[in-house]
Amino acid sequence: MERGQGSRLFDVDGNEYIDWMMAFGALPLGHAHPEIVEAVTETATTGAHFATATAVELDVAEMLKRMVPNAERIRFANTGTEAVMAAIRLARGVTGRPKILKFEGHYHGWYDDVMVSSNVMPVSALGLRNDPVKIADSSGLNRNALEDTIVVPWNDLPALQNAIENHPGQIAAIITEGIMANMGVIPPAEGYLQGLQEFARKSGIIFILDETVTGFRIAPGGCQEYYKLSPDLVTFGKALGCGLPVAALVGRAEVMDALQWGGVLHYGTHNGSRIGMHAARANLRVLTRDNNASFRHTWLIAERLCAGLRDLFQKKGRAAIVQNVGPMFQVMFTDRSAIGDYREFCQYVDRTAFQKFVLSLFPFGVYASPSAALHSIVTLAHTDEDVDLTLGAAAKSLDTSER
Ligand code: PMP
Repeated sequence: MERGQGSRLFDVDGNEYIDWMMAFGALPLGHAHPEIVEAVTETATTGAHFATATAVELDVAEMLKRMVPNAERIRFANTGTEAVMAAIRLARGVTGRPKILKFEGHYHGWYDDVMVSSNVMPVSALGLRNDPVKIADSSGLNRNALEDTIVVPWNDLPALQNAIENHPGQIAAIITEGIMANMGVIPPAEGYLQGLQEFARKSGIIFILDETVTGFRIAPGGCQEYYKLSPDLVTFGKALGCGLPVAALVGRAEVMDALQWGGVLHYGTHNGSRIGMHAARANLRVLTRDNNASFRHTWLIAERLCAGLRDLFQKKGRAAIVQNVGPMFQVMFTDRSAIGDYREFCQYVDRTAFQKFVLSLFPFGVYASPSAALHSIVTLAHTDEDVDLTLGAAAKSLDTSER
């Protein structure tokens, strides 16, 4: 790919594609939004980074405070992985406990301690639900890193309770995505996140909500607002910088204040870079303009597209479902009526069929990630015309593809 504009990507041969991937969700306004271009261009000519406090950094922090319910304190970083690393260290520091609990199929970046059971696997390799096999996602991890990581199936409160009871006084943090977004799109079961929050509170465990994907997408205050949660710490990345590497760790003052003066250390030369902060400020201004109109736009476009795709699969007799929460959606080739967790995803979703489907859309000018475990994203730049063209392309692809 060579160039992006609005909802479209252009490849080196000049072909045009509707982009439903949007840099893994890093572009909530689409490509080259004029206000981001202006902010970045101006900053590039007046100093990209000072590594000391700037007024724009305060502006972004103030905006986050207004948007995100628990953002009593804010720290900036560059990537979701960094924000997660800081959150985990902070939780360990504050509680004096060694272990963290994460969920099967959740991805939290490429930090050693969370690089476990995030990939799609044959279901026979996963072990039992009440004692999942921990599967390292990579070679080269610190060999002790996963010893202190407990892995539990998601959307299963009894399994969570069991794991907490088996490690009394040992768990510093529970880290979860608000919507499982690295196994397609899997919403939380009704009351699940609230139950998780209650278990954490009762046991003195820090509740880390990883909104790297859901932040500035599901609602102005993310899943925290949408599901009415009250996490101790929240991580943001991706959509915050609208294409520039900007991430944030925010949370309750009582916990965050342990970062002051390096009690718990969080450093980074590029944290809060001026160019990133200017992009983030312009981005948040556009996203929240006209009483958060951008969120209404993406939800509406997504509903049209998802309904159209569901209709199409039914008409064409294809065993496929579309799961979405607002602007995050994924097509799953399966004969199940819903996919509720990682194990079901591994067992029942035909990833090869998905890949074939997505690759068959490319010649019709529609671009999405060919990985069934990822998802597609609606942005402010997408239009009704993009929906119509995509549905037309999908219909043609289903007519010509073999099953
Ligand atoms: N957390 C979640 C939920 C993610 O989806 C990702 C990236 N896909 C990360 C953390 C890591 O973010 P980054 O790639 O910016 O390091």
